[in-house]
This record gives sequence, C-alpha cells and structure tokens, in this order.
Amino acid sequence: MTKKQKKMLRRIIVSLVLLVAVTLLLEFVALPWPFQLGLYLIPYLVIGWDILKKAALGIKNGQVFDENFLMTVATIGALCMQEYAEGAAVMLFYQIGELFQSYAVGKSRKSISALMDIRPDYANLLDESGKFEAVDPELVQVGQKILVQPGEKIPLDGLVLDGSGTLNTSALTGESLPRPVAKGDTVISGCINNEGVLTIQVTKPFAQSTVAKILDLVENSSVKKAKAEHFITKFARYYTPVVCYAALALAFIPSFITGDWAVWISRALTFLVISCPCALVISIPLTFFSGIGGASRCGILVKGGNYLEALAQTQTLVFDKTGTLTQGVFQVSHIEPAPGFTAEDVLNAAAAAESYSHHPIAKSLAKAASQSVSPASVQEVQEHAGKGVCALVDGKQVAAGNASLMDSLGLTFQQTDAVGTVVYVAIGGVFAGWILISDTLKPTAKTALEQLKRQGIRTVMLTGDSQKVAQSVAQELPLDEYHAELLPADKVSWVEKLLAQKKPSSTLAFVGDGINDAPVLSRADVGIAMGAMGSDAAIEAADVVLMDDDPAKIALSLRIARKCRRLVFQNITFALGVKFIFLLLGALGLTNMWGAVFADVGVTVLAVLNASRMLRIKPLMR
Ligand code: ADP
Ligand code: MG
Repeated sequence: MTKKQKKMLRRIIVSLVLLVAVTLLLEFVALPWPFQLGLYLIPYLVIGWDILKKAALGIKNGQVFDENFLMTVATIGALCMQEYAEGAAVMLFYQIGELFQSYAVGKSRKSISALMDIRPDYANLLDESGKFEAVDPELVQVGQKILVQPGEKIPLDGLVLDGSGTLNTSALTGESLPRPVAKGDTVISGCINNEGVLTIQVTKPFAQSTVAKILDLVENSSVKKAKAEHFITKFARYYTPVVCYAALALAFIPSFITGDWAVWISRALTFLVISCPCALVISIPLTFFSGIGGASRCGILVKGGNYLEALAQTQTLVFDKTGTLTQGVFQVSHIEPAPGFTAEDVLNAAAAAESYSHHPIAKSLAKAASQSVSPASVQEVQEHAGKGVCALVDGKQVAAGNASLMDSLGLTFQQTDAVGTVVYVAIGGVFAGWILISDTLKPTAKTALEQLKRQGIRTVMLTGDSQKVAQSVAQELPLDEYHAELLPADKVSWVEKLLAQKKPSSTLAFVGDGINDAPVLSRADVGIAMGAMGSDAAIEAADVVLMDDDPAKIALSLRIARKCRRLVFQNITFALGVKFIFLLLGALGLTNMWGAVFADVGVTVLAVLNASRMLRIKPLMR
C-alpha cells in the first residue's frame, strides 16, 4: 500500500470505530436531535471531508456533476432527513470502495513491472586490471566492459567478448527454453545468465537498451485508450447529470401528487447513492491494463488498449515471409560464378557489400564468407529495400540483390531458375555470378496458421522474394493467398486493397519482422512485429511487439485480445445491469441506502476481480 492508501485506511478505521461508538451510545442514551447530528457529524467529517471539498471545488469550477457531487448531495440529504447513521455510513462505504479501487489499480500497475521483472539493479563494471565493481547501469558507457555472473540479469545490451553459457529469456519472451550464447554473440538486457561467466562489451547506453525501451513502452501503454474506455468516459459525462435530474424528478413529481414528501425525497437520495458509476468507470480501464500486463508476461507487448481491442476484431492477417513465416536464416547452398570470376570472389564481394545491412540475407552471407570484412573497405552503401544493396568495396562498385536490382542497374546477367532465393552479384559493373540461398519454414508456422484458419481468419502472405520461392512456401502452409516479387511500396498497396475488402467492423493486422516493412506495419490497423528481441526498428514501428519469433504467439495474442474484450463486455453489462436494477428498486422504494451501498461496493469488487483474470494467462496457452 502507498502512503496515501495507508492514510485512507486509518481514516476508515477511525471513522468506523467512531460510527459504531456513536450508534451504541445512542442506543442507551436518548439525546435531542441536534446532539445526535453533532455526534454523527464527527465520523462523517473524518471520512468525508475531502469528498465535500472536491464537490465544492467541482461546483466552483462549473463541473458540477461527478461522483463527489452525488455522494455529497445524497449524504447531506440523508442527514437532513434525520437518517444520520445512513449518511455517515454511505460516505464510509464509498471511501472503502475507492480505497479498494486504488489498491487494485496500483497493484496491477506494479504487477506489470514485477511480471516483466527485467529492470537491472546494477552492472558489474570491469576495469583494466580485471577487477569489477557494481554500479548503476545508467552510468555505464558504450564501449565499457561489464561482467555478468551466473544468476545475474544482463543489465545492458552488448557483445560477448569472452565466456559462454545459456540465457534465460523468459522474462522477455515468456519462453522458458534457454538460449545458448558464446563469444561474438550479441546479448540483450533483461535476460538472465543461467550459467557461465560472460564478459560483455556494452553497445548501447542504458536509456536506449532493450530493457529501457520495453519498460517505457509498457508503462506508456495506458495512454492509448480503447474505444470502450472512451465510451465509459463519455457515458459518465451524460449519465451523472441525467441521474441527478431523474433524482430531482423523483423527489418532486410524486410528492406533489401524493403529498408524501418524506418518502419520495428519501427514495430520491437512495437513487442518487445507487447511481454512482464507480464500478464501471474503474473496471474497464483496469481490464485493458490487466490485459496488457497479462500479454507482456507472455512476451507480447501491446502498445495500448486500442490495439488490444483492434486485435480482438482481426479477421485478416497479412504476413511477411522472410523472418516471419520462415526462419530468415539462409544457408548458402550453391554459388555459380560467371566466367572470369571465382566462387570466392562472388561470395566475398557480396558479403562485403552487405556488411552494413540488417537483412537476414546479409547476415547469412557474412556467415558463409571466408574472409572477414574490414569496415573501412566498404563505402557509399545504398540499400534498396526489397531489391538488395550497392556499395563501393575496395574502390570497386559491387551490387548484390535480386533480378529486379540487376535490371534497375541496367546490367546484363544470366537469370537462373534454381528454386530458392537467388542473390545476383555484379562486380565493377560486370555480372559476376549468383548465390543460391535457402531458408526453412519456422517449425511452428504450420500449426499457427492452421489455428488461425480454424478461427476463420483470412491469411495472406506478401513477399519480396521470387514467385517460385513464394509458391513453395504456400504449398506447405495453409495460406489463403500469397503475392510475390513485391517492393515495400507494393506491399502497402496490397494491404490497402485488403483493407478495402474486409468487413468494416473487422480489422487487418500485418505481421512482419520489422526489416524494411515499417511502412506496412504502420498502414495496417494493427502492426505486429515479431522476433523483436534487440531490433529497435521493429519495437518502434509496430503496435504489438512479439518478443520472440514464434508464429504461435500470433494466435495467442489474438486469444488474449478476445478474452480481454469478453471481460470488458461482461463488466459493462454486469455493472450496468446491476445498476439499473437497483435504480429501479430504489425508485420504487424497494431498497434503502444500505442496499444501495452494498450493491455498489459489491459490483466494484466483482468487476475488479474479473478484470484481474487478465493477468493470469498461462504463457504457454496453445
Ligand atoms: P520479404 O518480403 O520476404 O521479407 P524483403 O522485402 O525483405 O522480403 O526482400 C525481398 C527480396 O529483395 C529478397 O528476397 C531479396 O531477393 C532482395 N533483397 C532485399 N534485401 C536484400 C539484401 N540486403 N541483399 C540481397 N538481397 C536483398
Ligand atoms: Mg522482410
């Protein structure tokens, strides 16, 4: 509990004790009403002074109709009707309900950071002599070396200089499988080092580290509100004045007819107490917030309630191929040099030209090449998204990419019909040969797509790769359709076409790996980036970030979103339903203030408990 909440708890206890004491006292001693009122005013003011103050401030600022106003009018009304105990008790229960809400919200907020449990407390900074000292991760600079011992959290993103072991990435990805790391691998902050001592060279300052980005993203996710949340805010704006006027009507109209003023004013006051919309107002944002929390626990970061809502309505899922459905780890399976060149020339030139690219193809070529590239030898790098790269390598112009790159450079070259992704290479303006690389499907891609299909979702693959490769992928996966040989801009126009075809009430989500598909990610209703561990571009461009690259997480995130929508719907109907029933009972004189208060606190508690179900999602729900 926070200090503020503890203070409120003390006020509640003091007021409760006083209220009981006064009630007992008056059982035995008969006092004239001014003394009774005076005695009851003590617990009433102890618990309610801030509500009275807020109501007065609201009236002064012209924003009359809010919960504070409702409670103030209702309780002062009760006191005027000589129902002193009720007046004080209503205020007391209202505050108990408020305390419960603030506790629940605070708890779910905290549980997100706790669930994520990725913020490092310290970094072991190494000095020249090999000694280390624990320092604040924010003080470590790029290029400095840190030591991570078994059981410790990796505090900063970096490169392993020495040591090997396995990492537990479950806090980031929700996956419990340990990931092996060795010298030369990049590691990201937030993982836990299971075994082995790692010496790491820091590559990013803490503020730009994966951990800082993720925490920032999750903490800001409540800013983007879902439609349901906006609805509630708007609803409360009209609802409160409406019930106030209804209460006024209830107090006066029947009284004029029957002449029974006391009965109808008391019913009107009960009506006001009942009308307080707390449960509704609190439980909807709380449900979304818990949904975001529950999802992040599974390694699914959702940037706002609005995206969770949109995900729940997804009917069309568009996939990028490389790195999304396939592993994006290419194996060089064949090199065909043109006359006058050797296979080595071709591979080394391509690898050098690609050395600045983040594309999966570039990474695989680097791995396959025999010689390492010195950064100084590569200049004037131009990456053509969806085509390939051009660069000056050791003063010679090198181009590596697909047929369309060769065409656009006006090079004559020998096109091959080998199945697989082909990288054509030109050196010094002359075609030098081609490299055949092949990618494999992700092991879970098929089941993931089958699951989505069963949910009635239209699946489309858009790829920049050749028609042939696309076709062979589509043969193995249950895709509804695919389109190949697309540049990033063509992907956008396909997404626009698909957006126009879908039902207006449904949404379209695009799933990519964040490499050269930022335009589509932002054009879709929901952009989902996967395999985002360590890829900043993806974390920034997407609305939903899957920390690992398992396609099964897509079906899971849809399921989480739908569960959230269901709980929101349950809470709205439940809270409104109970409210209207009690309003009716109150108007008919079938319930008194006590019943009203218990109904409201009860609904709030149940709605909050219902919302918290979102926090408990098993990470491996398949
Ligand atoms: P996908 O839609 O499958 O993710 P991309 O749009 O990333 O594919 O790339 C489409 C095609 O463009 C690739 O299949 C490849 O032929 C070519 N290409 C893109 N980037 C590169 C690169 N860095 N090196 C070589 N070829 C590339
Ligand atoms: Mg791609």
